[in-house]
Amino acid sequence: MRTTNLYAPTLREVPAEAEVKSHQLMLRAGMIRKAAGGLYTYMPLAWRTIKKIEAIIRDEMDKAGGQEISMPIVQPAEIWQESGRWSVYGDEMWRVKDRHGRGFCLGPTHEEMVTTLIRDEVRSYKQLPLSLYQIQNKYRDERRPRFGLMRSREFIMKDMYSFDKDVEGMNVSYKKMYDAYTNVFNRCGLEFRPVEADNGAIGGGHSHEFTVLAEAGESNIAYCSECDYAASDEKAELKVIASAEEEMKELEKVSTPDAHTIEKVAEYLNLPLDKTIKAVAFQTDTNELVLAFVRGDHEVNDVKVINLIEGAIELRMADEEAITAAGGVAGFMSPIGIKEGTKIVVDATVMGMYNACAGANEKDFHFINVNPKRDFKDVIVADIRMIKEGDACPHCGAPVKMTRGIEAGQVFTLGTKYSESLHATFLDENGKEKPLQMGCYGIGVGRTMAAAVEQNNDADGIIWPRSIAPYEAIVVPVNAKNEDQMAVAEEIYQGLLAQGVDAIIDDRKERAGVKFKDADLIGYPMRITVSPKALEEGSVEVKIRRSGEVKMVEKANAISEIVEILKNL
Ligand code: ATP
Ligand code: MG
Repeated sequence: MRTTNLYAPTLREVPAEAEVKSHQLMLRAGMIRKAAGGLYTYMPLAWRTIKKIEAIIRDEMDKAGGQEISMPIVQPAEIWQESGRWSVYGDEMWRVKDRHGRGFCLGPTHEEMVTTLIRDEVRSYKQLPLSLYQIQNKYRDERRPRFGLMRSREFIMKDMYSFDKDVEGMNVSYKKMYDAYTNVFNRCGLEFRPVEADNGAIGGGHSHEFTVLAEAGESNIAYCSECDYAASDEKAELKVIASAEEEMKELEKVSTPDAHTIEKVAEYLNLPLDKTIKAVAFQTDTNELVLAFVRGDHEVNDVKVINLIEGAIELRMADEEAITAAGGVAGFMSPIGIKEGTKIVVDATVMGMYNACAGANEKDFHFINVNPKRDFKDVIVADIRMIKEGDACPHCGAPVKMTRGIEAGQVFTLGTKYSESLHATFLDENGKEKPLQMGCYGIGVGRTMAAAVEQNNDADGIIWPRSIAPYEAIVVPVNAKNEDQMAVAEEIYQGLLAQGVDAIIDDRKERAGVKFKDADLIGYPMRITVSPKALEEGSVEVKIRRSGEVKMVEKANAISEIVEILKNL
């Protein structure tokens, strides 16, 4: 490629609409352009990187036994109605109608499609295991599309689905994908962690998220300072914190005027926060009230709460009326005195507290000497709190650390969730009909590219890992009008191409400074500069983008030396 032919309009200014580095830099490097909120065009340079990431993914999926297919993006409503997800998927699903008024959606994911594809034709255990995958656009009408390709409404996803005859088989398929994902992200040159994750609306068994470590990430992950435990904060399990045993005192109502927050209450009563119990009132998508209680210094993990409530998909803060109807008073709530039948979930640590302070369900009053074991009736007890820095690792007990990351991929075991609702069965060795055991595995291709930029940049621009760089090396004649320089640059460029190096030559008749700035911004891993001074000495200059290291290479054996340096990048 010659830059005189390349469509990559670079920008010197930081675009105002872009909040995070990857979004800013890809706009500035002329790699992406916005069409509308969450909808982007991948320009030539970005498309090359996308193709390289896809090639790595394909290679690993094929090695793991996957077969590539391509299913329609437009999916009939019927299969989603059959699985039960048409009504539960919510506003994120991009719904469309055809000219006859029939319902369709633009696929946000393909469990229904792939399961109905194979259900009539996979009939025997002899056809298993089977893994099918595709790489295509997905559509999710995100509530807040943002950060460019990181959270867009149309995005490229690799989605794979595995079918096995039994749970052991499913776990083998899962492990294969876990390993394949590890290879993919290693080959893309990313620093990442597989973290234990929540299954979310997709349902099923266990799951890991492959999280690229980066400050701009939307995922919070907890990892152990001692062992290799890592989990998303939504998922991270917590041990019960035991309270020192005390004699249970008699419940007492005390006045706490205007103390609406637990901090104010603790201050007013001169109590440490870990002697208080705080409430969060939620309502489910079906308007059921759910009251959650954690220790005053802890936070409620709403994902853990959702998982306790059968059929709930989303939680929102409860309306005042719903709270009042259940006998509660916002800001002064506890399980004591709440109407029977109200769903109340209490964190397991709270149940072990003695003589604590909690709301009295009366404006401006709290109870002291609350002993949950004695005073809380008909409550669901579970781990519902959010992990925080310093909490004990559930595996070894050492303190955990928190870091931010970008979820670039996720693997799930699904069990029979979809095969049962969609009647995908097979006959086992004994001729017995059984539902297929499934797994599903996604990688966001555009998000992986954005994550790579997020993790690899400096003040001058992007620093691509070589394996996914749009071009591996750029050859820059300082003065393209000078025939000698151009001839040497051309020779090196052709020589690199002949060696299979993905090279580009900057043949623009621009000032050297402009060319260097663009090369740094776009982030080619290596720049080879042909300057008059070096030529006089019979050499060319090789600069490594990441380290800034400069090396003079003899012109006579430039190609082999450059190829060698590239190999080690
Ligand atoms: P998130 O929690 O970030 O919304 P998700 O868990 O819903 O993502 P999955 O259903 O697991 O996403 O999809 C598989 C992969 O697709 C994700 O790991 C991510 O890399 C990518 N992905 C999901 N949503 C988007 C999006 N809106 N824009 C870009 N990539 C996305
Ligand atoms: Mg996910």
